[in-house]
Amino acid sequence: MSQPFAPQSPAPLSALENAAEFLPRHVGIDAADEAQMLAVIGEASRRALIESIVPRSIARSRAMDLPPPVTEAAALAELRALAARNRVLKSFIGQGYYGTHTPGVIQRNILENPAWYTAYTPYQSEISQGRMEALVNFQTMVCDLTGMPIANASMLDEATAAAEAMALAKRSVKSASERFIVAGDAHPQTIEVIRTRAAPLGIDVVLAQSAAEWDAALAGDYFAVLAQYPASSGRIDDLRADVQKVHARQAALIVAADLLALTLLSPPGEWGADIVVGSSQRFGMPMGAGGPHAAYMACRDAFKRSLPGRLVGVSVDAHGRPAYRLALQTREQHIRREKATSNICTAQALPAVIASMYAVYHGPAGLRRIALRVASYTAILAKGLEQLGAPLHAQDCFDTLVLRTGDATRSLAARALQWGANLRVCDENWLCISLDETTTRADVELLWRIFAGDARDLPAFDAFEPGVEPLIPTALRRRSSYLTHPVFNTHHSETGMLRYLRALADKDLALDRSMIPLGSCTMKLNATSEMIPITWPEFAGVHPFAPADQLQGYYELDAQLRAWLCQATGYAGVSLQPNAGSQGEYAGLLAIRAWHRARGQGQRTVCLIPSSAHGTNPASAQMAGMQVVVSACDARGNVDLADLQAQCERHSANLAAVMITYPSTHGVFETQVKELCALVHRHGGLVYVDGANMNALVGVAAPGEFGGDVSHLNLHKTFCIPHGGGGPGVGPVCVVQDLVPYLPGHATAGIAGGVGAVSAAPLGNAAVLPISWMYCRMMGAEGLRAATESAILSANYVSARLKAHYPTLYASANGHVAHECILDLRPLKESSGVLAEDVAKRLIDYGFHAPTLSFPVPNTLMVEPTESETLSELDRFIDAMIAIRAEIRQIETGIWPRDDNPLKNAPHTAESLLCADWQRPYSRETAAYPVASLRKNKYWSPVGRVDNLWGERNLSCSCIPVSDYA
Ligand SMILES: *Cc1c(COP(=O)(O)O)cnc(C)c1O
Repeated sequence: MSQPFAPQSPAPLSALENAAEFLPRHVGIDAADEAQMLAVIGEASRRALIESIVPRSIARSRAMDLPPPVTEAAALAELRALAARNRVLKSFIGQGYYGTHTPGVIQRNILENPAWYTAYTPYQSEISQGRMEALVNFQTMVCDLTGMPIANASMLDEATAAAEAMALAKRSVKSASERFIVAGDAHPQTIEVIRTRAAPLGIDVVLAQSAAEWDAALAGDYFAVLAQYPASSGRIDDLRADVQKVHARQAALIVAADLLALTLLSPPGEWGADIVVGSSQRFGMPMGAGGPHAAYMACRDAFKRSLPGRLVGVSVDAHGRPAYRLALQTREQHIRREKATSNICTAQALPAVIASMYAVYHGPAGLRRIALRVASYTAILAKGLEQLGAPLHAQDCFDTLVLRTGDATRSLAARALQWGANLRVCDENWLCISLDETTTRADVELLWRIFAGDARDLPAFDAFEPGVEPLIPTALRRRSSYLTHPVFNTHHSETGMLRYLRALADKDLALDRSMIPLGSCTMKLNATSEMIPITWPEFAGVHPFAPADQLQGYYELDAQLRAWLCQATGYAGVSLQPNAGSQGEYAGLLAIRAWHRARGQGQRTVCLIPSSAHGTNPASAQMAGMQVVVSACDARGNVDLADLQAQCERHSANLAAVMITYPSTHGVFETQVKELCALVHRHGGLVYVDGANMNALVGVAAPGEFGGDVSHLNLHKTFCIPHGGGGPGVGPVCVVQDLVPYLPGHATAGIAGGVGAVSAAPLGNAAVLPISWMYCRMMGAEGLRAATESAILSANYVSARLKAHYPTLYASANGHVAHECILDLRPLKESSGVLAEDVAKRLIDYGFHAPTLSFPVPNTLMVEPTESETLSELDRFIDAMIAIRAEIRQIETGIWPRDDNPLKNAPHTAESLLCADWQRPYSRETAAYPVASLRKNKYWSPVGRVDNLWGERNLSCSCIPVSDYA
């Protein structure tokens, strides 16, 4: 008991410092809450609870060795010092990464706004209309600029998009060839990732290094070709004549194109390209040492059903109004599983939203102006370099010049460095210079000075300016219009933009409004102090391929974070390169494949995956060239060890790996996991432990200690990177000592070895790594363990309180769950006709995002409360679930019809309740205010139940024509 104003002996300084501790900010429950929750669960202490849940056989042998936690202010100060070790020079490197001005209204109201960045992937359509409108804008923008009929809502980066395009072409064209032709003047990182991806699929990648080689290659045999437009060195090739040649071979033409250039260039869709990919980075996303940025993929209509990634489509709601939803293959990962063709789950939703809003804010005229300025400055730069007698290589180009600098290459690059500029050193004889939106006159003059040598007159910018023409060939100038939809022609004032962003955000439920109890997704606090550093110029402003000494801050951050993640997982090595969990899985399986091959065991390609696994597991195994064999689960939800043993014996000679999730996707700590690992090892296989559920393990048990050989983490789940409405993510791949040599490398960035690059940039989504660094730094080893234990406590509290209303499907022998619980709603179908989906939609009326629906068990809800929710919020959710159970009873007892009740009609829009003639068998109050607290704080769904089938039958994935609103 404190008496704030009574004279008292001074508190010890350490107690005062505790007042600034981060832990109680991150964990939502305090000691009193904990006691109350333990009483409900029936355990004496948190320690006793954890010991009764986590099998003793896997408990950590010792605590994690992390630096002691510091306060938010101290962590920020320490990170500032790290950031200061990066050096932000003026970048003329290009190669897929360009300077850009993030409009302030977009930076503050999207990138730094939790209403946008804490949202989840829009699986629950009704509460995601705002972000889906933004993503439809993105798709429309990509379609318009590329001239293609359909585009998805983002890819992980340009290089992986190109690799996915290769795979899409392979499964879509008639040609049976295994050869893929790549123009040598594509971005080197793109070529590198394509090679990584092609190898396990048996695809033969042929580089065409010159025009002659390209022509010769096109006359040969292949299933697809890829060319960069404009090329990496800036040249604009006229590919129109190549289209017929490619199509005559029943093959596909893939074009990697720059969106800004396409505002001035004839778009690939107008001359017959089959797939167009690229990056939207220069539409407002800082370079951030390589990511996160939204890549894009657009394709011809015939390919749309195999398009990877997420696609937002337009449908109608229960009232016949337009409404957005995720379309097509969105669910296919789960349905297709081992037949899946792409493993993309988390993508780059937030960067895609930002790129789309950049286009909304500037509009077509603004984008064209920006592009024209870049192209004109490039032309002026060229004139000046010519005047100076610089060895400029004449070429058609948009923003990039190339110089044959020969012996002077290194000294010119060094001279540029002295003056604060990075040029691209292509090889020992060639330099490239790329301009962008941020290039100023002074920059152009600086570049002239670099090439002028000493004591010479500089060219005069003003002299070149009148009548300057871009260096774009007349035949390839764009004549078609783009971005004609009103959304790109309305919000050009800052006031207008601000209100548009606010209106969209207001339609959605994100963590800034309520708990998002999504099992397997770990929607925990994304603390503001963790988010602040990502827009610091020292992190945001650096080019991924800048000289190493300019990236020292990032290297150190990478090294520290990797060391901490090794502590958390018990593994020996980590790579932060993969851009999502799925990419970490893929990288991990590549490491397993490489390890077997290095030991002369290349025949080991069978990957056993339990039936309860996440859909990305079989999809990743497929992409890594493995043969997926599904193993059974028993009635209690555990991996059926007898079946696994039989499968191991059957495939013993060819067993590559077993992929398990731990604790299982059923939310249970299986007690026999050590035996499982030993069994797999006995048969020569390796154990892949999917780390998506690490929020139940950090500080408590480590997969690298209990038998795992490889895991991926989801930093956007366990380590606080926000979900961004469907990305960005970071999916570190973690391995035991023997597999460290097979982690991803990155030759383009000078990092040799390993299984090659799996992402365009060596550190993947580097710019969001400070978030997880801050989290670990402020929590420390004890704090992270406390978070895990609180997460487990909260899940058990939810399970215990709801037991009498919705039984938990799977639990350990003592009735406890891990950090999530599956509520079994299956019996309700029989008794009332109510499906889990109806409860999910009714929760919207109560102001909640639904738990995970029908994964891993159909017609169930999987609840993961995380450690960050307060007890009052947990209770609010539980009370809503109990109230809904009472509503279901009204149906069971016949008071409400099975097809006309608050669950089937949920969610209720304000408009539907305000109709003059209310005919439902329940009152409007029951519909809108089923519990009293809603009268104080009510979320109104902007649309009624979205009709998925209608959307599937009438597929449309671009902005809604204005007439449809009439
Ligand atoms: C989220 C998740 C994944 C995939 O991770 P992404 O980052 O979305 O690619 C894989 N496995 C499990 C069990 C997951 O929950």
